[in-house]
Amino acid sequence: MSSIFSYNKVDKKILYLLRSTIGDKNVSSDKEKLISYSHDEVPPSAYESEYRAEALVFPECSAHVSEIMKIASANRIPVTPRGAGTGLSGGALPAFGGIVMSFEKMNRIIELDEKNLTVTVEPGVVTSEISKLAARHDLLYAGDPCSGDASFIGGNIAENAGGNKVIKYGATGAQVLALEVVLADGTVIWFGGKRRKDVTGLDFTHLMAGSEGTLAIITKAVLKLLPLPRHSIDLLAAFQDAETAIAFVPQIIKKGGIIPASIEFMDKKALELVEKYLGNPVPASDAGAALIIQLEENDPDVLEKEYERIGTLSKENGASEVYVADTRSTKERIWQARKAIPEATSFFYNRYTKEDLAVPIDRVPELLENIKKVCLGRDLEWVAYGHAGDGNMHCTVIGPDTEDWHEVLLKVQEEIYSAVIDMGGTLSGEHGIGFKRKKFMKLFLSKDHLELIKRVKLAFDPDNILNPGKLVEWNE
Ligand SMILES: Cc1cc2nc3c(=O)[nH]c(=O)nc-3n(C[C@H](O)[C@H](O)[C@H](O)COP(=O)(O)OP(=O)(O)OC[C@H]3O[C@@H](n4cnc5c(N)ncnc54)[C@H](O)[C@@H]3O)c2cc1C
Repeated sequence: MSSIFSYNKVDKKILYLLRSTIGDKNVSSDKEKLISYSHDEVPPSAYESEYRAEALVFPECSAHVSEIMKIASANRIPVTPRGAGTGLSGGALPAFGGIVMSFEKMNRIIELDEKNLTVTVEPGVVTSEISKLAARHDLLYAGDPCSGDASFIGGNIAENAGGNKVIKYGATGAQVLALEVVLADGTVIWFGGKRRKDVTGLDFTHLMAGSEGTLAIITKAVLKLLPLPRHSIDLLAAFQDAETAIAFVPQIIKKGGIIPASIEFMDKKALELVEKYLGNPVPASDAGAALIIQLEENDPDVLEKEYERIGTLSKENGASEVYVADTRSTKERIWQARKAIPEATSFFYNRYTKEDLAVPIDRVPELLENIKKVCLGRDLEWVAYGHAGDGNMHCTVIGPDTEDWHEVLLKVQEEIYSAVIDMGGTLSGEHGIGFKRKKFMKLFLSKDHLELIKRVKLAFDPDNILNPGKLVEWNE
């Protein structure tokens, strides 16, 4: 890839500098390793070229990150921060080679502060470890992406990851109180603090959330904790079609008088696919669509009344069946089905594009109808599932395993995106732009908006060495 910015290669001198600064064991140029750290979960078939890191670094602390960035900026070497590599936008792809910085060794939970209800972590902590530790203290860490058993908190913050509980608690950014970051030139700086309010200066803490590693490197995070809800129940409501299921979503809140912790959607194909993949019966697998509605309360009597009310409402709003999961194993069965859909898709298909569209909730049926129209016109298959409570649908278009897939894909995307824009929707609700979606940014954002993003980027990183090739195009 070419760029209006010029970069240097990682040569022997750079490797020597890195090794002598952060230690031999924290630097690698092993060929096999370079390959495995040069992609995320976007299938390689999504790109027409291959991208490869020239060196890997495994910092153990913020001081290491700072030293690496000083070397990189003095020598104009691109640096791509990398969490667990579960990203779905090519964010951790080293688009210009250079250094990939993995945070797997910065995986300490530094402190859980029960008085201020915060937890302070390094970026390489696996998300679910934070939730587990909080739960042992009767507290809730509310960030909950479906990939939480693998993804790192640094990656979650950089992507402003959403997930299953956004409708009640907000996305990852809403859980962040403070961040220690390292700038492109190696400067270490704190944004925010252990405080719930702060209007002193610009809100750089939350600018970092969703900045995809392009503005600064997150080296510590102070996260908000909440009281742990003591009881929860999951309802799985089966509907004859997606339209009826989605039309029920606002009614759950309005007529049900509660905000559930989750409202997740699975279409017919998703239900069938996941049952085939898991090899076990999935409740409602013969339905036209299904919603998972998770309710949480501290008082079991209140919870019982709530689930009876939502169960009755579901039936009144077209549900043919409502399954109640109130034990660990029945809950796991439902959530395993929901969470296995992406894996099931990549297991059965080679060529597909996982979209992450978000539209106003009342336009979801129209979105699904558009996907259907675009796919049927070309003899393509599709799977739709996602966070119905947020209007965020992971519509996956499955292509034929043919040479012209990239051309077909481009046309399909352009048609779908044009419909999404007409519906007041957006390109990505939670997976981010990264490398995969940047060429479509100009469809969704005005020229002035894109210019402003570039100006902010250059204020943080004048030589564009931090995760270049992502988010916006610079005449590449
Ligand atoms: C099965 C599956 C389910 C998923 N479910 C969800 C879901 O429900 N909700 C959701 O939002 N996403 C989901 N994702 C996508 C993905 O898990 C999230 O985007 C996650 O936040 C990525 O974290 P990661 O640690 O793997 O980051 P990576 O993929 O390694 O990196 C992601 C981005 O973060 C940057 N980055 C990483 N660490 C840092 C750092 N310390 N400082 C600065 N930048 C950094 C990288 O440069 C890159 O741009 C899912 C993915 C899979 C495979």
